Amino acid sequence: MDLSQASIVEITEAVKTKKVSAKEVTTHFMKRAETLNPKLNAYTSFNPNAAKDAEAIDARISKGEDVGVLAGVPFGIKEMFCTKGLVTNAGSKMLQNFVSPYDATVIERLKKAGIVITGKLNQDEFAMGSSNETSFYGNVKNPWNLECVPGGSSGGSAAAQAARMCAGTLGTDTGGSIRQPASFCGIVGVKPTYGRVSRYGIVAYASSLDQAGPMVSTVKDAALTMEVISGHDERDATTSQRKVPQWSKDLSANVKGLKIGLIKEYMQGGLHADVQKTVDQAVSTLKSMGAEIVEVSVPMSEFAVPVYYLVAASEASSNLARYDGVKYGYRAEFKNLSSVDLADFYGKTRGEGFGKEVKRRIMLGTYCLSSGYYDAYYNKAGQVRRMIMNQYKEAFTKCDVILSPVTTSPAFKIGERVADPLTMYLNDIFTTSTNLAGLPGMSVPFGMSEDGLPVGVQLTGAHFDEQRMLNVAYALEGASMVKGKTPNV
Ligand code: GLN
Repeated sequence: MDLSQASIVEITEAVKTKKVSAKEVTTHFMKRAETLNPKLNAYTSFNPNAAKDAEAIDARISKGEDVGVLAGVPFGIKEMFCTKGLVTNAGSKMLQNFVSPYDATVIERLKKAGIVITGKLNQDEFAMGSSNETSFYGNVKNPWNLECVPGGSSGGSAAAQAARMCAGTLGTDTGGSIRQPASFCGIVGVKPTYGRVSRYGIVAYASSLDQAGPMVSTVKDAALTMEVISGHDERDATTSQRKVPQWSKDLSANVKGLKIGLIKEYMQGGLHADVQKTVDQAVSTLKSMGAEIVEVSVPMSEFAVPVYYLVAASEASSNLARYDGVKYGYRAEFKNLSSVDLADFYGKTRGEGFGKEVKRRIMLGTYCLSSGYYDAYYNKAGQVRRMIMNQYKEAFTKCDVILSPVTTSPAFKIGERVADPLTMYLNDIFTTSTNLAGLPGMSVPFGMSEDGLPVGVQLTGAHFDEQRMLNVAYALEGASMVKGKTPNV
């Protein structure tokens, strides 16, 4: 079996039927990860017990035990997820030596399904960024072109998956952090409906927007992984009680008669030619498969970026207040701790522990929440958010799935946008409204740029209608120009 190409579905099937052992599979991916990491910096640490964990799966298979639907599949995990016994640093100096004493719910479920953890994956600090350049652990390189960013914040996950340094990965998406890097690196990335997946044990960035999802090589692998991680969790009150569908079994590439919505406001030009071409080709492909293309309108999406950055920064300023150096995490050094003033203690610790972008967000968020400005900024943002949500609901009465660009351009160059936060934030123009509205969204690789970079197409579904979104992705995957192409690293 060619492990450099094999899907999760194929790997676990081969492991369970003993065509290959979990140990052999794990050894292959660990070796590749260790060899390529000096080039890409996708991993922040490796799991020293990976081989042993794989052996345990093999032993259980030999005994005829039920080992789960992902048995023997090596998974890399973004630094945002608490992973028992491994460092969980969220890309920050603040949590540099933090070894999690417990597993996030999604990790617990993945382990129960039989995955082997290869290691932890680099990301923007506290998931704040669109290029992986805010990470305390250095930037990640895009395996398709080492001069380009892999996207962010799940840049390590996207690069590792694209370079096949693991068979599957998990990312988090608050404003596009699964979909944008997936698009930049030519992989499939899904942000499920808000409430589908438990946030328990995931480092909190903006709790009303955060959602975890798979970043993998195929649509079917994404569907299968989602089945494992989704579902109610009593430790996260925002998780839905709804039954988790069998997305992978019900996948269908038949889009005949399906109504595909194009958001009028997104189609007004200004896109990079390669992105425009990719979207146009996706539209004509779906049309030729019998789908109907309809125009929908989400006028308030124009304000998605400012609303997102107000809401996300406000929630982040509150969530990140816990990093004060008292109970855990980084603590600044003091000559005589007993005589230090508390404000100085916090100030020095937080001043040294957080990076520049995180500080910018904390300051912005604190300002938005301060009395006197709360109504003008935070409250107003909440009102516009509600309008965006309602406009999407209206749009979904006219169509089944929405198709749009993921972002304005293919992967950009490292260093190109770091000096200008506004340009960086504007990169999130097509992804943030999905989070604000709580809708499921995904990126599926479809086009290739003139420079040989993959370009994704974004699909958005109605609340809890991941199935039809996945089906459209499945149809596009079959006609994708990225199919059969791999980065040359
Ligand atoms: N780029 C966005 C931000 O910086 C989105 C990040 C995310 O989804 N975690 O906030």
